[in-house]
Amino acid sequence: MSDQPSILVVEDNPTTQRILSVALASEGYRPLLSAGVAQAQMIARDKKPDLYLIDLGLPDGDGIMLIHSLRKWTAKPIIVLTAESNEADKVAALDAGADDYLTKPFGIEELKARIRVARRRLAGPRYNKQPPLVWIGEIAIDLANRTVTRAGKEIRLTPIEFRLLSVLCEHPGKLIAHDVLLEAVWGPSFQGETHYLHIYINRLRTKFKVDASTKEQHIETIPLLGYRLLATEVRPAEDGGG
Ligand code: CA
Repeated sequence: MSDQPSILVVEDNPTTQRILSVALASEGYRPLLSAGVAQAQMIARDKKPDLYLIDLGLPDGDGIMLIHSLRKWTAKPIIVLTAESNEADKVAALDAGADDYLTKPFGIEELKARIRVARRRLAGPRYNKQPPLVWIGEIAIDLANRTVTRAGKEIRLTPIEFRLLSVLCEHPGKLIAHDVLLEAVWGPSFQGETHYLHIYINRLRTKFKVDASTKEQHIETIPLLGYRLLATEVRPAEDGGG
C-alpha cells in the first residue's frame, strides 16, 4: 500500500479537507492532511509527498510563502486552491513556483484531471536521443545535463521554466505557437491559457538578462501567435558524432 502516491492537502476548512481526502483516496492516492503552514512544513519534510494541494488562505500564514519555502528543496507538483478568482493571487502563486491552480468551487473530476496532468508532466524528458547544445549569445542551454549558464555562471531555473525553455529549444529560431507550448509544458487541457506563457516567458527573460536595463533579446514575442527562441548557435550533442 505504501507505493500509493501521497498528496499533501493543506486546507483549513474541515469540510473541504474531508471532501478532498475522500476523493483522493478513491483515486488511489494516499492523502496527508494539514490545516496550516507550520504543520504542512513538518509533514512535507517528514513524508516527502508526491504532490501538494495548497489553499492560499491559511490561519497561520500565507500559502504563497509556503510554496516559496517548498520550492527551495522539492520539485514535486504544487496545485493551488484559490477561494476567489483573484488574478493577482494566481500570478503570485505561479511566480512562487506553483504548477497550476484551481478556483473554488471546482469539480472533483477537474481536480483529478489536473493532478494527472501535473504528475505526467514530471515523467521525464521528451528527447529519445541526446539533445543538442543551444546557445543564445553567451547563454548556453545544455538540455542533456539540464543546465543553463551565462558565460559559465549557472542560471537557476525552476522545473517548469526549464521545460518551457526545452520546448523552445526543440525548434530554435522557429515560431512555436501558444497552444503547442501550452500543451507540451502544461498538458492538453491548458489550450488557450496564454497567461501562463506570459508569466513564464517573462520569468525566463528576467533570468537571462544581465541587468534590467539591458536591451538584448533572447525570446521573441510573435504577437497573437507564439514565441521564438533567438538561438545564435546549435551544436549537435557530443556523443555519436565521432
Ligand atoms: Ca482557507
